[in-house]
Amino acid sequence: MTLDMFRLDGRTALVTGGSRGLGLAMARGLARAGARVLLNGRDRARAEESARQLRDESLAAEALAFDVTDVAAVDGAFAALDARGVGVDILINNAGIQHRAPLLDFDLADWRRVIDGHLTSTFLVTQRAARRMAQRGRGKVVNICSLMSEVARPSIAPYAAAKGALKQLTRAMAVEFAPRNILVNGIGPGYMATDMNQALMDNPEFDAFVKKRTPLGRWGRPEELAGAALFLSSDASSFMTGQVIYIDGGVLASL
Ligand code: NDP
Repeated sequence: MTLDMFRLDGRTALVTGGSRGLGLAMARGLARAGARVLLNGRDRARAEESARQLRDESLAAEALAFDVTDVAAVDGAFAALDARGVGVDILINNAGIQHRAPLLDFDLADWRRVIDGHLTSTFLVTQRAARRMAQRGRGKVVNICSLMSEVARPSIAPYAAAKGALKQLTRAMAVEFAPRNILVNGIGPGYMATDMNQALMDNPEFDAFVKKRTPLGRWGRPEELAGAALFLSSDASSFMTGQVIYIDGGVLASL
């Protein structure tokens, strides 16, 4: 059956920043296809609450709270999984933050926070996960990129720099991990309705800009990433590595 290659039964997926927003929507999608999902975030209570929500939907989910930018915390999380004999088959690098300020005034500490939050964290978590995937002889990694991997807007320079680099890191990981059967791809969401964009959605001018600039004429819904996340996490994409799929309502196709 064609649909069988999308099944994730018996696989464990770690979704960083899976406690809410796009991460939670993708985690729910993977869990509905049979995966056990580990929901990450710094706020433990929030991650626990989201895991409970998924379990109430008869899905296999648990919280795994740690800060993806903190080496000791990342190592601690993987050591705890090792101790329980839990292997991460699928890693979705989705955690991230935004900080908006004019580049001329951008504070160095904020710059570092944004770069670390998206880029260094992806290196850190993927390295830990991939070492273990290499031992098992297979793995899937999905890096959450952005429209800002391709284009830029004022006031979010480190975010655009990190997302552009994440596209290249996706390719670098793909070529380096291919001999170990670890496949690495990316998803570039367009303007999606999540907490991260609440201020933009609440701004009538920006809301109108997004609806006009997006050929489909609306903000994306988080659950609209689940199909691509499942495709890239499953055997359905077994000959695909180093690619980024943009799910943007047509933005990048239009001038
Ligand atoms: P949200 O702000 O809604 O959620 C962010 C998630 O990341 C939360 O679970 C948060 O949990 C977690 N997180 C943030 N920092 C850390 C950290 N240091 N360690 C662990 N977890 C962390 O964001 P979105 O769902 O909107 O975005 C998710 C990803 O998608 C991001 O990488 C973002 O850049 C990208 N993206 C979003 C788009 C959009 O339109 N929304 C468009 C394109 C890309 P906690 O706060 O508890 O740590």
